[in-house]
Amino acid sequence: MLRGLMQDDYPLTLGHVLGRMRTLNAGAEIVTLREADGARTRASFGEVVGRIDRLAAGLAAHGIGEGDRVGTFAWNSQEHVELYMAIPCLGAVLHTLNIRLFPEQLAYVINHAQDRIVFVDDSLVPLLDRVSDQLTTVELFVIIGDGPAGNLHPTVRYEEFLAAEPIDAYPAVEERSAAALCYTSGTTGNPKGVMYSHRSTVLHAFSTGLAEALGVTSADRVLPIVPQFHANAWGLVHGSCLIGASLVMPGRFLQAAPLAELITSERVTLSGAVPTIWMDLLRHLDAHPETDTSSLTKVVCGGAAVPRALMEPLEQRHGITLVQAWGMTETSPLGSVAHPPAGSTGEERWSYRLSQGKIAPLVEARIVADDGTPLPWDGASAGELQVRGPWIAAGYYEDPQGSVEKFADGWLRTGDVATIDSRGYIRITDRTKDIIKSGGEWISSVELENELMAHPAVREAAVIAMPDERYTERPLGCVVAEGDLSVEDLRAHLSDRVAKWWIPDAFAFIDEVPKTSVGKFDKKVLRARLTDGELEVQTATEAARG
Ligand code: ADP
Repeated sequence: MLRGLMQDDYPLTLGHVLGRMRTLNAGAEIVTLREADGARTRASFGEVVGRIDRLAAGLAAHGIGEGDRVGTFAWNSQEHVELYMAIPCLGAVLHTLNIRLFPEQLAYVINHAQDRIVFVDDSLVPLLDRVSDQLTTVELFVIIGDGPAGNLHPTVRYEEFLAAEPIDAYPAVEERSAAALCYTSGTTGNPKGVMYSHRSTVLHAFSTGLAEALGVTSADRVLPIVPQFHANAWGLVHGSCLIGASLVMPGRFLQAAPLAELITSERVTLSGAVPTIWMDLLRHLDAHPETDTSSLTKVVCGGAAVPRALMEPLEQRHGITLVQAWGMTETSPLGSVAHPPAGSTGEERWSYRLSQGKIAPLVEARIVADDGTPLPWDGASAGELQVRGPWIAAGYYEDPQGSVEKFADGWLRTGDVATIDSRGYIRITDRTKDIIKSGGEWISSVELENELMAHPAVREAAVIAMPDERYTERPLGCVVAEGDLSVEDLRAHLSDRVAKWWIPDAFAFIDEVPKTSVGKFDKKVLRARLTDGELEVQTATEAARG
């Protein structure tokens, strides 16, 4: 081999990102919303780095070093960014804890990761308190803020934990060493740990700057609504620190009104959140059309399929263009982004924007049949989506069983069923566990949900499988109605939108679609309610079914 003559051993570590925050990006700022009345704090990256150095010294004084896991139980805030940098730059591992986990799962992940310290926002102390007596490895709780410490023990306040003097020097860190850990809710069994390396994190952060991806620039003011515990806020924090964009952090204020106010007053240019948040914002903006959101030009939305009934009105009535992206905790999470191809217009353009997007640079994807055969990229053949690349997980942390199930031949088995077209655009039809198999054929619950939500009187819709003697399974539409709505209305609405045999015979009108810990529709809960007879199912009359 004739070797390239390049600095291929230059380490891709978060130390590089911290270095840029200290120098080139020192003038960017982090704004954090602190109080319901709009009170907020501001600090330049330069000031923040000073605190990161003192935090690192505090951690080192406590004996935290290479490979130690340190938990965070916190909203998006300046302190959480400080933790994002100080912990990995010491060679330790930042373990972001999902604040909405059930208590038993929360205790499980802290014990499984063997967290030595947990940093907790004072407003979240009661949630952590519920499991504090089950934690076997935590030596110290560091409380961010002045609120009560509950029964947590021993505790110290964040501002006291920061050492008086900055750390002398950070240790040299190998790029393949662990930087961050995030557990994902497994379909079965316990949550599974995804262990990001410095290298994967830096490469992923770098990709956020691609216009083809999220397009973060140093001129941006980025509002990560997606929590820092949900796949590292989709790379928006690391990307902003690397590139020098300012961060606007919403703290615990994730309702539409304070978010809209933040967008206006901080002139936010780029944001990211799951569809349920933008649904709330759409309703809020419809009620307050005078709100100025003109600064917001790049908005990424993903984590669940983005309905046209959200994208279209948000754009037409409020000038906010959502860009759909697909990813998973296991994919760091950026896998694909739905920028439509050049030259596409009208309905064709919509069809690309409503897809899960084009496979991102450095990510490879394929779809495979049940027997493992790769399927053609013809936009029609559907199979399990599998991905690989430098920021895709290779296994789960200390979980051989889970790793065997989800990883094969160097590919991550996503559990999503999808088609890929000749241009590399992915369209997810379902998750394997949500598929409805009716009379031997598949019905896409995602497509049915999108079509149902296009009805003006449907606020939310989730479609699940209902056992059926004749067809094995039939779809059941669970609908949150915003007015008078009958089974016949819904069936008539679907009649010219989907194949006749897809149209559900049965619907359940519910008050709200249950949500998961990160705000996605939780069909598990709906299925359990159906099994337990808690859903009031209304069936179309025989005559209407025809
Ligand atoms: P969880 O499994 O707890 O939801 P993740 O946040 O990692 O954890 O979820 C990843 C899954 O979310 C994907 O496998 C996919 O099913 C779904 N998903 C993510 N983005 C999209 C999207 N744009 N459209 C449809 N589904 C999506």
